[in-house]
Amino acid sequence: MASTTKLAPLDASKLAITKNASPKTPLPNEQLKFGQSFTNHMLKIQWNDKDGWKNPEIVPYGPLVLDPSACVFHYSFELFEGLKAYRDSEDKIRIFRPDKNMARMNKSAHRIVLPTFDSEELIKCIGELIKLDKEMIPKQKGYSLYIRPTLIGTTAGLGVSVPSDALLYVITSPVGPYYSTGFKAVRLEATDYATRAWPGGVGDKKLGGNYAPCIRPQLDAASRGYQQNLWLFGDEKYITEVGTMNVFFVFKDPKTGKKELVTAPLDGTILEGVTRDSILELCRTRLNPEEWEVNERYYSINEVRDRAAKGELVEAFGSGTAAIVSPIKAIGYEGKDIDVPLLPGQEFGELTNQVAQWIQKIQYGDEEYKNWSHVVADLK
Ligand SMILES: *Cc1c(COP(=O)(O)O)cnc(C)c1O
Repeated sequence: MASTTKLAPLDASKLAITKNASPKTPLPNEQLKFGQSFTNHMLKIQWNDKDGWKNPEIVPYGPLVLDPSACVFHYSFELFEGLKAYRDSEDKIRIFRPDKNMARMNKSAHRIVLPTFDSEELIKCIGELIKLDKEMIPKQKGYSLYIRPTLIGTTAGLGVSVPSDALLYVITSPVGPYYSTGFKAVRLEATDYATRAWPGGVGDKKLGGNYAPCIRPQLDAASRGYQQNLWLFGDEKYITEVGTMNVFFVFKDPKTGKKELVTAPLDGTILEGVTRDSILELCRTRLNPEEWEVNERYYSINEVRDRAAKGELVEAFGSGTAAIVSPIKAIGYEGKDIDVPLLPGQEFGELTNQVAQWIQKIQYGDEEYKNWSHVVADLK
């Protein structure tokens, strides 16, 4: 019989904290490797389809105990998010546009029938987690605390159906700058023999199942001297994303001299990157419209190759939370390299560097822009 009782919503005011009795001391900044060390605590919130969300708990960081038949292990009921907290010059802790990550997490959850939740409440819980581990948020510019919210189905049993039990947990990892010695431009392999995402699929969701199948093509590309895959789609060979980042190209119109910033449209095959969205908005509002066009449109590797040959390719870069931007210097396609211009003697293009500066300033609170930099704690 269908239950008529109302399921409990996620409620941050019910948060209970159990402190870690043997906390680790933070690693020196120069020893931080991306996602390799974690803070002393984690946030856990259980859910079931009888009661809804249980009381949130912060507990010492440690292993999970799950039934081996749990649906996460067999049918990939798993999704995640990635965002960062930054310590500003006044010792305030800021998270960059967490509302966007929470909205995306809820969309991912809805797609694989895991429970959704009130975004504001989870942001409050994450704020408390960060405050508790504040000694482990690195102080230096370029350093931050990477936040990994995760949602899994935990129902025991091998039937493929709607999970009746779920666990939302959040772990955090102190991280250094993606480029510790300045930008390093990458070489990509244009990949058309493997497809990352397709229309009607789930490539626009941060589901764990999307990522494991991308490692084999990455190894294949690496064996040929390319660090990442430039994912193409369809007979048209449209450019979609690079590795696990969105991607932008800059072209120049030889007749008008006008430049065009291009990225693929959100048609369901593209992950809706928060960095992508931020770059588009900042470029639309800050670049001179007499000199620039900013477009979300389909464009193919053939357009890139042909325009590069005519000297119309200006620069290209990937975008994502981990690196903000990742400059591209070459793309292997049909046995030849397309050279992507960089500034003379540099590992980046002009706009690549510009957008990185713009976004970093907002992230560290050096500049206020709308409500993008959300203060979660004041450590002073
Ligand atoms: C997470 C992710 C991105 C970047 O998203 P951000 O919100 O900017 O970090 C881009 N593409 C894929 C496939 C991703 O998983």
